[in-house]
Amino acid sequence: TRPATEASFDQAAHQVLRDVFGYDAFRGQQLEIIRSLFEGRNAMVLMPTGGGKSLCYQIPALLRPGLTVVVSPLIALMRDQVEALQHNGVRAACLNSSLDPVMRRDIEQSALAGELDLLYVAPERLLTENMLGLLERSEIGLFAIDEAHCVSQWGHDFRPEYMKLDVLRQRFPQVPRIALTATADQRTREEIGRQLLPDGGETYVASFDRPNIHYRVGLKGNAREQLLTFIRERHTGHSGIVYCMSRKRTESTAEYLSSQGVPAVPYHAGLDNETRQHHQERFLHEEGLVVVATVAFGMGIDKPDVRFVAHLDLPKSIEAYYQETGRAGRDGEPAEAWMVYGLQDVYQVRQMLAQSGADEHQQKAERERLEALLAFCEATGCRRQVLLRYFGEEHDGGCGNCDNCLQPPKTWDATDSARKALSCVYRTGQRFGATHVTDVLMGRTNDRLSRLGHDQLSTFGIGTDLSKQTWHSVLRQLLAHGYLQSDPEGHGGLQLAPACRTLLKGEAGLSLREDILPAARKTSGTST
Ligand code: ADP
Ligand code: ZN
Repeated sequence: TRPATEASFDQAAHQVLRDVFGYDAFRGQQLEIIRSLFEGRNAMVLMPTGGGKSLCYQIPALLRPGLTVVVSPLIALMRDQVEALQHNGVRAACLNSSLDPVMRRDIEQSALAGELDLLYVAPERLLTENMLGLLERSEIGLFAIDEAHCVSQWGHDFRPEYMKLDVLRQRFPQVPRIALTATADQRTREEIGRQLLPDGGETYVASFDRPNIHYRVGLKGNAREQLLTFIRERHTGHSGIVYCMSRKRTESTAEYLSSQGVPAVPYHAGLDNETRQHHQERFLHEEGLVVVATVAFGMGIDKPDVRFVAHLDLPKSIEAYYQETGRAGRDGEPAEAWMVYGLQDVYQVRQMLAQSGADEHQQKAERERLEALLAFCEATGCRRQVLLRYFGEEHDGGCGNCDNCLQPPKTWDATDSARKALSCVYRTGQRFGATHVTDVLMGRTNDRLSRLGHDQLSTFGIGTDLSKQTWHSVLRQLLAHGYLQSDPEGHGGLQLAPACRTLLKGEAGLSLREDILPAARKTSGTST
């Protein structure tokens, strides 16, 4: 059936939504996106995870004549989608490397015979001459390029095959294309446009706000105990995901939680397939299980009632944080994104960056991403506003559902203290970490310090007015705000960053947030 008029298009689209997918109404811009593809225009869709991207091409696939080819790099996800579609009576299949030749031949025959509505393929298979030839002999109605941010060399999911997808435009010029992603920053957006839709198309940007997620970032003390308290106080019996940086830490944390009566299992790429599969299945089907995972966990996990996502270590970027926390509360019910972070995390991430072997270009991009994340951690205003701004979306702040909105952080005039800290970093030779710098500031000598002659420096003992914790807080925030930087080799030495000049010259003041200390939950001492 090919609806001819506007009204009949609307009707047909709604009918498919109801009859095939069982939903009553379109969400956000779904209907407009479907219409523009239906009318043969290209589209770029930026929508958060869980926003409902799949329907944007699945419904046109059923409304337009011909086969819709979906390019996706995630085999598990493809399989799930095909299963769900078949369950709804849609003629869908997927071609991947795990198929035997007979089954593959079968699927190819169905495609040629026009017996399929949707065909999912991995990009490397799509790009084979074999596959392209087959498609040329079939009737193609639409190309959908999922996870389109994989085309961006700046992103961390870069896949070289995505750069070659322009072949679709060259060989199928009359077939509309839709590129979809949950990554919305401007740079990625431009790159998707340039590489995948150079012939233009409509861009649809959905709001990235997840109003039911409560954001909270605290200072790291004993992270495991803090996590346990958080779960016990607010999430007993709930499903949740805890992200850690290292495999070892996921295991020790899962063990610790279990020993404290919180059912938890680890998940990381180093576990054998069977165990991983088993833990994932348990998470999906059991109630109240906590998965302690590295970033390997989550791609394609669609569990609606995850009540919390916790970060024991810093994620790589705001995008990563947003993706990871976005797995909470897909059912729209209240959920929490909880993170603890400290100075040590900053060192650790920088060190990993330095040792990653990435080229200068990439390292710079990653550093910028890290800086944006640190600014989010240290924000004194509404966290939702900071997050959404990062994705180019305006928000008035005052969301009423983040820690800073509910309990506005106290700030203090740290201009003098910041100057003292900066000159102490300078006098000690820009080679030492926060502990040593703090000792010098507080006039606390030790063997190493006196051997270095740092007790003779003019900055020795100029900071007795503040506690050790407060100095750490000052140094951490100077680092987070870009007045200090850690040494490029990643040894944890603090150095002056160019931006500190305005502070040292007295051209600018500085207001810092008072830390809420994790153990005592008291505010730190201040100089004012
Ligand atoms: P994304 O690919 O953007 O992460 P999905 O396409 O997987 O999101 O959709 C997320 C969930 O929302 C799925 O369970 C999907 O069935 C559901 N969904 C999508 N569109 C609608 C709608 N119009 N009404 C109700 N549920 C929807
Ligand atoms: Zn807020």
